[in-house]
Amino acid sequence: MTTYKGGCACGAIRYETSADPALEGNCHCRDCQRSSGSAMASILLFPKEGFHQEGKAKYHELKADSGRWIRRGFCPECGSPVFTELEMAPDTIAVKAGSLDDPSLYKPAMQLYTSSAQPWDSIPDDGLAKFAKMPDA
Ligand SMILES: [Zn+2]
Ligand SMILES: [Zn+2]
Repeated sequence: MTTYKGGCACGAIRYETSADPALEGNCHCRDCQRSSGSAMASILLFPKEGFHQEGKAKYHELKADSGRWIRRGFCPECGSPVFTELEMAPDTIAVKAGSLDDPSLYKPAMQLYTSSAQPWDSIPDDGLAKFAKMPDA
């Protein structure tokens, strides 16, 4: 059993879970580009059950491409993007791979929204499943 621990840059937000991620992947959608400030977001989706967090994130809610809401949680002190909650998966909470204490635990299985990947975002031919948008759940 792997314990996933992490938090924001200043330490005000911490989280921990021993659940297996339901999904791990790199998302190249425009929302993830804006919230990460970079080419993509690398996310791990965990069940909310057994997910412990300390500190209070500030949330920004917006409508995703799908028309459903997505909430982005970031540290109000240091601004690190940490959490994502999705209307389409209400029993889960996603964390950014870079927020893990040991980011090498991240094992991406797919590339999402490659249709909006930027020309300067090199997606390696690494054998991962690639989806132009979000695969049907
Ligand atoms: Zn912080
Ligand atoms: Zn995205």
